[in-house]
Amino acid sequence: MIIDTHSHLQFDAFDADRDQVIKRMLAENIQCINVGCSLDSSKKAVALAEKHEGFYAAIGLHPTDAGEPFDVAQYRALAQSKKVVAIGEIGLDFFHKPYDEQKQKDIFLQQLALAEELNLPVIIHCRAAHEQMIEILRNQKLARLPAGRQGVIHCFTGTLEQAQKYVELGFYLGIGGIIFKFNIDKVIQETPLAKLLIETDCPFLTPAGAPEKRNEPIFMKYTIEKIAQLKNISPEMVASATTENAKKLFGV
Ligand SMILES: [Zn+2]
Repeated sequence: MIIDTHSHLQFDAFDADRDQVIKRMLAENIQCINVGCSLDSSKKAVALAEKHEGFYAAIGLHPTDAGEPFDVAQYRALAQSKKVVAIGEIGLDFFHKPYDEQKQKDIFLQQLALAEELNLPVIIHCRAAHEQMIEILRNQKLARLPAGRQGVIHCFTGTLEQAQKYVELGFYLGIGGIIFKFNIDKVIQETPLAKLLIETDCPFLTPAGAPEKRNEPIFMKYTIEKIAQLKNISPEMVASATTENAKKLFGV
């Protein structure tokens, strides 16, 4: 069994053939965490998780959706579902312009507080903002969460030094199809397998070699193969170790 730790199967891109995509992944014994980006997509992620075995959900307000107010009561109510295993995706994005840095930070801090309150790990989106993110996570320790269960920096594309800082702070690094566009070979080679998670971020970030433009969970194998080559171990070892990491982090 393999867990896709970051998918968006609730998105419109899968409306026409969601059942077939799910059938294909279940046939390969793949489970997933569907991640919300807004209140609406968080609700849809929870509904999908309630419907299928081996499906889980994360709920949160994405920094590029920060125009939407963060209604903590609604997210708290959604978290009542046993299928909600994380708060995310939340974070900072100073790449997409224009952005309101203070507003993004405020909403991120409110969601970190919710994660603390609910004892849930966080799924962090961080783009062009790693230094600010590391500073926040240093000062804002997720103290109630067990060591190493703080969360994951999803779709990591930072430097080796930043990777090491996140690992020191108790975070995993989420590795997906972006590694075919962005060279983070050194980060993958130097970070212990025990701190890596596999993800698709589907429908986005399709790995090289996949037969379709739209990404889906079964295409994780291309990412797993590349990590195996870089670390000079078998793909099976990458799949089993990262799945164990995902189970530990999300308690599934
Ligand atoms: Zn995502």
